[in-house]
Amino acid sequence: MGCQNESVCKLCRRENAKLFLKGDRCYTDKCSFERRPYPPGQHGQSRLKFSEFALQLREKQKAKRFYGLSEKQFRRYVGVADASKEVTGLALLKILESRLDNVVYTMGFGSSRREARQLVSHNHVLVNGKRLNIASYVVNKGDVIEVQEKSRQGVRILNAIQGVSKRTVPSWLEVDHSQFKGTVKDIVGRDEVSVPVEEAMIVEYYSR
Ligand code: SF4
Repeated sequence: MGCQNESVCKLCRRENAKLFLKGDRCYTDKCSFERRPYPPGQHGQSRLKFSEFALQLREKQKAKRFYGLSEKQFRRYVGVADASKEVTGLALLKILESRLDNVVYTMGFGSSRREARQLVSHNHVLVNGKRLNIASYVVNKGDVIEVQEKSRQGVRILNAIQGVSKRTVPSWLEVDHSQFKGTVKDIVGRDEVSVPVEEAMIVEYYSR
C-alpha cells in the first residue's frame, strides 16, 4: 500500500470518499477528508468533468484501495464473481467484505484493515479454533473468529478494541470483545457492505 503516513489520506481525497486507511484517526475531526473534501493538488478544487470510463476507473480504484488489494488480486476477484450465479457486482462486494482481514477489522480487533491483515498474517487469529494466517480466506456463515489467547494482551489489539466504540459492528457479525471472539452470523447483505461504491461501474470497467 505504499507510504502509510500522510499520503494515504490523499487516496481518500482523490477517490472523494473516506476509505478508512488510518485507523482511529479516521473517526476523528483530524480526518483529512473531513477537513479538505476535494482532490489533492493544485487543481483539486476545480470542477472536473469525468468520462464514463474515468468514473468506472475511479469506482474500481476506490474499492481496490479501500480493501488494500493489488490490481492482480482485484481482477481475480472480479473473475470469481463473474463465474458465480449471483449478479457479478454484488458477488464481488460479498467476497471483498468477507475476506478474513476485513472481518477481523470489522469485528474491531484491528484499528485499520492493514493492521487486521498483519494480525492474520502474523498468526494471531484463529478460525474455528485453528490458526489461519491467510488474509484472503473468505469467511463462511458460522465461522468463529478469535484472537488467539497469547496475543490478547497485545497493545495494538487492546487499543483497537477500545476504539471500536466509534464504529458500528454490522448485524451479519456478532462480537464479544471480552472474549476476543466473534461469529459470522450470516452472509453479508448489500446494505452492510462497507465500501461506498457503485459496483455495477466496476463490472463495466472490467467488461470493456
Ligand atoms: Fe485519512 Fe480520513 Fe481517509 Fe482516514 S478516512 S485515511 S483520516 S482521509
